[in-house]
Amino acid sequence: MQKETDFLTRLRHSTSHVMAQAVEELFPGVKLAIGPATQDGFYYDFDCERTFSPDDLAKIEARMRQVIAQDLPFIREEYSKEDAVVLFKERGEIYKLEILEDIDNDAVSIYRHDDFTDLCRGPHVSSTGEIGAFKLLSVAGAYWRGDERNKMLQRIYGTAFPTQEEMDTFLARLEEAKRRDHRRLGRELDLFSINEEAGAGLVIYHPKGAILRWILEDFERREHLKRGYQLVIGPQISRLELWKRSGHFDNYKDYMYFTQVDDQEYVLKPMNCLAHMLIYKSSQRSYRDLPLRYFEMGTVHRHERSGVLHGLPRVREFTQDDAHILCRPDQLHDEIEGILRFVDDVMNIFDFSYELEVSTRPAKSIGSEEDWEMATKALRDVLDKRGLPYEVNEGEGAFYGPKIDVKLKDTLERKWQCATIQCDFSMPERFDLTYVGQDGEKHRPVMLHRVILGSMERFIGILIEHYAGAFPLWLSPVQAVILTLTDRNIPYAAQVYQHLLQEGIRVEKDFRNEKLGFKIREAQLQKIPYMVVVGDKEEQTKTVAPRKRDGTALKGMTLQDFLAMIGEERGVPKTTRQEGGDRT
Ligand SMILES: [Zn+2]
Ligand SMILES: [Zn+2]
Repeated sequence: MQKETDFLTRLRHSTSHVMAQAVEELFPGVKLAIGPATQDGFYYDFDCERTFSPDDLAKIEARMRQVIAQDLPFIREEYSKEDAVVLFKERGEIYKLEILEDIDNDAVSIYRHDDFTDLCRGPHVSSTGEIGAFKLLSVAGAYWRGDERNKMLQRIYGTAFPTQEEMDTFLARLEEAKRRDHRRLGRELDLFSINEEAGAGLVIYHPKGAILRWILEDFERREHLKRGYQLVIGPQISRLELWKRSGHFDNYKDYMYFTQVDDQEYVLKPMNCLAHMLIYKSSQRSYRDLPLRYFEMGTVHRHERSGVLHGLPRVREFTQDDAHILCRPDQLHDEIEGILRFVDDVMNIFDFSYELEVSTRPAKSIGSEEDWEMATKALRDVLDKRGLPYEVNEGEGAFYGPKIDVKLKDTLERKWQCATIQCDFSMPERFDLTYVGQDGEKHRPVMLHRVILGSMERFIGILIEHYAGAFPLWLSPVQAVILTLTDRNIPYAAQVYQHLLQEGIRVEKDFRNEKLGFKIREAQLQKIPYMVVVGDKEEQTKTVAPRKRDGTALKGMTLQDFLAMIGEERGVPKTTRQEGGDRT
């Protein structure tokens, strides 16, 4: 499995070289930036005065096909950094020179095929003939190094596969992804907007988006209370000293927003941990009090570069379903296990499958080597004991501890980072958190940072695409709409509307003097689960004629029967297991 992925990555990256060669030949003077493989294909960033058109892409593809047919070998050569600088200076490749400046090694590698040369770590496939099927997909602007202060380059996206069949499957899925795009559906279903006037990466929830978020938050609070968590709320800004003490300032300041109040420097919180630690510290804790599980729907701000902002998954202000568990070392295993079960329950409710990854110590980090080892072992032990498979990402942990990442898979088999469980021995040390043990001595608790859905913004984006906007009844912002057949029926329809409203159904009315077919069509486009039609016949028999959004017309029924029918369906699905609160 691993090998296959590697081959695909090499194949795609090799295709990006072939594309760069074609672009260089067809558009002399173009400057090359970077051209990596991605999860879905590859891209290459070019600095070119001409704006690439669809016709240009077709020409580039045609030239690429020739190069592939020639089956030219990819050749790796080692250069000293100095020689490489000379080589790329001659060619006027200013971006390659910038990349070279950042390389610490004395030796660098160059890959060549045909007349094309690129600064590249590799690896590549052995020759261009190994590239089976490829397609150039689109052109988009991309700032050099993702920084809006830099020049805007042109990024050509493409994809490549070993066989045409695999590529066709992928392209079909891409079409489906476009149909489900949460940015488009977000607009069409009037859920949210992101408005430059308010600022990039800042989400504005419209009424239907806000109710969806409220439903999810309400669900979350109940699930957390059932599992022995306590709800807390921390301040949105807090003093800079606190963030220096935690190590955030040293390790995370590029992502943080600062503000001043009177003469004090404050931080707009990028994480929720610190207030939770202050709650812990507000009184003397005993071993009997632990574990303590503090949960907050915590809004955080992180300064993402504008180049990486993208719909709901990458924003600058988001809310996490964040909790911090403080426990004794002997409780760590059970706590991690409890979180994994929680994740499993919640993923089942939304029909998501998922994969697990363990991320270890990054270069920029705090804490002792022993603590890191202990924390990493704790996480791995639980997974091993439960027989759960996982991959290891070396150096991808948080700066204060290793973590288990949960990558959920949506209906299109795309992977998304949502839940994480981070094990932290450092913060309790830095903030001198203690509890009195059975021996009467002071001990250090361990801290687990964890989210289940992760960023609510990202999760809502994923949900929109997962369900293609047709949410299950319990999540639907509007569950039913009352449609009148004629204006005569309005008074009775208004009674039906009031009745459903009082029963807690999220209901709308469409009493416009329009054809019923037209109104049904609009409600279907809005993906409203039930259309409740009211005409003369219904009025006389005191019934309603419901229809489902898939077009199924149900037979007439009383409102009572209608409520009974949807009663079960509109409740929050039951999670399979529930954790007890106390486990001392
Ligand atoms: Zn390369
Ligand atoms: Zn945290």
